[in-house]
Amino acid sequence: MNPVVVIGAGPIGLAAAAHLIERGLEPLVLEAGDHVGAAVSEWGHIRLFSPWRYVLDAASVRLLQSQGWEAPRPAALPTGADLVAEYLQPLAAVPQLAGRIRTGHRAVAITRGHRDKTHDRAGVPFQVRVRTSEGAADLSAAAVIDASGTWGSPNPVGAGGIPAAGEDEPEVAQRMLGSLPDVLGADRDRTAGKHVMVLGAGHSAVNTMLNLAALKRAEPSATITWALRADSPERSYGGGDADGLPERGALGERLRRVVEAGIVDLITSAEVHQLAVTASGRLAVQFRDGRSTEVDALAGATEFRPELQLLRELRTELDPAVEAPSRLAPLIDPALHSCGTVPAHGAEVLAHPEEGFFIAGMKSYGRAPTFLLATGYEQVRSIAAHLAGEDSTPQDLNLPETGVCSAADAGPAVVGR
Ligand SMILES: Cc1cc2nc3c(=O)[nH]c(=O)nc-3n(C[C@H](O)[C@H](O)[C@H](O)COP(=O)(O)OP(=O)(O)OC[C@H]3O[C@@H](n4cnc5c(N)ncnc54)[C@H](O)[C@@H]3O)c2cc1C
Repeated sequence: MNPVVVIGAGPIGLAAAAHLIERGLEPLVLEAGDHVGAAVSEWGHIRLFSPWRYVLDAASVRLLQSQGWEAPRPAALPTGADLVAEYLQPLAAVPQLAGRIRTGHRAVAITRGHRDKTHDRAGVPFQVRVRTSEGAADLSAAAVIDASGTWGSPNPVGAGGIPAAGEDEPEVAQRMLGSLPDVLGADRDRTAGKHVMVLGAGHSAVNTMLNLAALKRAEPSATITWALRADSPERSYGGGDADGLPERGALGERLRRVVEAGIVDLITSAEVHQLAVTASGRLAVQFRDGRSTEVDALAGATEFRPELQLLRELRTELDPAVEAPSRLAPLIDPALHSCGTVPAHGAEVLAHPEEGFFIAGMKSYGRAPTFLLATGYEQVRSIAAHLAGEDSTPQDLNLPETGVCSAADAGPAVVGR
């Protein structure tokens, strides 16, 4: 019997494996990085806004507890590094999972049998091509769950969804800090006392600016510029006291204070047109409206997009704008929803014309930025039930609202079966 291949050993991929095992199915988890939670480790210095009670999956906890694991304090807020060390690594080490995870295995293509997708391949096993340090290999699978996240494909800094002029030049790339630089730790030498620009409106940008503001207290000569495509920072300040997750609300409020205190300089309506390195080695940032400035480094916190090349030989059905499964997209479209809440949904909403293939976790949200772990755990619980031939009806989710809900956010609590 071929295994169910799960692509990605992040929180959702490992939860998928735990749910599959509970239902008597055989998972095989492929992880591109050299350890489970490799993507989360890259933002390990950031504290989650969700306390532990919202970031643990029930089936995973049952596996862990069978090995005497003690859950962290439910109200405490883990960092990304805590999530990996205290939850994902112990989970990957339980005997039921340990032999079923292959690190250093990057999935690079998925197909079915030996025919391309123009042929009828119903019932034919999937083939997942993996690349390892030893070369390429093909693995057979009864079903595939793509839980590979979006961390590996950040959006470009250029406003139109394609790189700004010069953005791809190696000299420019050297002055780019990535989405969530560790400005108080590993990246401190590149930012302390320097002029750093942060471009973006979401939680990554907010976290980086707050850390830069803390660094400026130690190195007051630093200049921090926050470049925002929107014409107002209000949405980034979030719902404050109205946020169902107090830490998420507090982040925006702290940012408002550092902006109002003049610690961070704010530029709104900032659409980056061109990046170039000057004769003195600084980064010249030119905006579409003619404004320009020079900085030492730029953190492009412009959110992420799903990597779709991997899925080229599958019959997927994705929303053309959000790039999420087409039945999920209207429930999370960032143009309509800001709440952070979503109706519970599972196998039916996430299904594609390619029977037995699912996208789950962060990647299932496509370009929408509001994914929460609790949503993903319910997705994979329902997918595992479906694959086991059991009732996959989604169970109600109780997600904390952001406090900045738009009218369009109201909707049913459960969608699909
Ligand atoms: C800074 C930050 C803070 C967040 N805070 C919260 C929070 O407080 N609460 C909350 O609910 N959510 C939070 N999220 C959102 C979300 O829950 C996380 O991004 C979470 O890590 C998503 O889990 P995932 O398993 O879907 O993807 P990931 O954690 O990204 O895991 C995907 C895994 O797949 C691997 N991979 C990628 N491509 C391949 C491939 N081709 N082949 C094999 N393996 C591959 C990666 O190396 C990675 O290990 C936060 C996100 C960020 C970035």
